[in-house]
Amino acid sequence: MTLEELDKQYVLQTYARDYTNFVKGVGSTLYDENGRDYIDFASGIAVNSVGHGNERLTNAICEQAKKIIHISNLQVIEPQAKLAQRMVELSGYDMGVFFANSGAEANEGAIKIARKYGETKFENKRYKVITLEHSFHGRTITTVKATGQKSFHTPNFSPYPAGFSYEKSIEDVYKAIDDETVAVLIELVQGEGGVQPFEKEEIQKLAAHLKEKNVLLIVDEVQTGVYRTGEFLASNLYEIEPDIVTLAKGLGGGVPIGAVMTKHKDVLSAGDHGSTFGGNYLSTAAGLAVLDILSELYDSGRLDETLIYFEQKLRETAAKHDNLFEKEVGLGLMRGLRAKSAEIQGSVITNSLKAGLVILKAGRNTVRFLPSLTISKNEIDEGFKRFETAISSL
Ligand SMILES: *Cc1c(COP(=O)(O)O)cnc(C)c1O
Repeated sequence: MTLEELDKQYVLQTYARDYTNFVKGVGSTLYDENGRDYIDFASGIAVNSVGHGNERLTNAICEQAKKIIHISNLQVIEPQAKLAQRMVELSGYDMGVFFANSGAEANEGAIKIARKYGETKFENKRYKVITLEHSFHGRTITTVKATGQKSFHTPNFSPYPAGFSYEKSIEDVYKAIDDETVAVLIELVQGEGGVQPFEKEEIQKLAAHLKEKNVLLIVDEVQTGVYRTGEFLASNLYEIEPDIVTLAKGLGGGVPIGAVMTKHKDVLSAGDHGSTFGGNYLSTAAGLAVLDILSELYDSGRLDETLIYFEQKLRETAAKHDNLFEKEVGLGLMRGLRAKSAEIQGSVITNSLKAGLVILKAGRNTVRFLPSLTISKNEIDEGFKRFETAISSL
């Protein structure tokens, strides 16, 4: 049996999969089973934040694995406590952290905190959560319902939990708030929805309004967090103070981890929430190594250099190929090119892989770039060279 046949026979076919068999990665270069190399501009959908085969990360994982991989959350876990401290210090917010295993789970935790806050802090019950169109918040029954894309709300999985509504724009959120609204849940750059950032001023205005109305601001930083936009959190870049922040993708450098941080530390009490695996020794040791590597990169100014260089390359490409792309979108190392049609988007991605470059798609016909934050200048140059080759025939 070939690998493709094996996959098709035994793995549930929930993904439209490509069958390139990657066997190794070094930095932002991947190698397939035939030894062919590919530049990785996707980092596993913003997950491999420190690249592939990163020595400091793999050493931290190996050293931790040799000691203890897992003990239940009924015991204190040293790297978990240290990672929570590190995240809180880097964020600059006075918050507490709960650890989960994925972005969807982190958002579930955020919604649970908001719901209990709405149940216990007011005379009347507040439970409604407002989200935005084109948002993406996860694949569990609740987070899929929180996701503002109709195609996700198929009757196949109904009934969904009540209390979620979607607005077209930030401006529309103001009118949608009523006395049962407990929280507004947003991404500052809508990732899956097309790498679309919001304006800083409109987010600051919304944050101030929500504070005044006692409505919680939940920022889904599952994709934007952990330096993806150039600051530890996109919330830091936007200079706001959310009530709740969720993280996942880049935090473990590839080891599954999710986290919800909140300044409302007293809302959840023992027994309210939990996770078997969340915050175990292995994932939090990985998280600590990732934050060591990335905070050094940030402090040295090299992260800034990388994102300026990447943006400049992408701008040049967008300008040169305005027959294919409408505009360049995104922030930091979360970037996209809006293709003029879904056909162009599809061909650009397929041709890129053929030319030895891994890129991604996103909503609104966007070709998406999410390179590792440690990508080198040479890898960026080589990646864009291959991108030129890929699109030259279109
Ligand atoms: C990827 C993503 C999620 C879901 O994360 P999973 O780990 O796949 O559950 C949620 N929110 C945003 C903004 C994401 O980008």
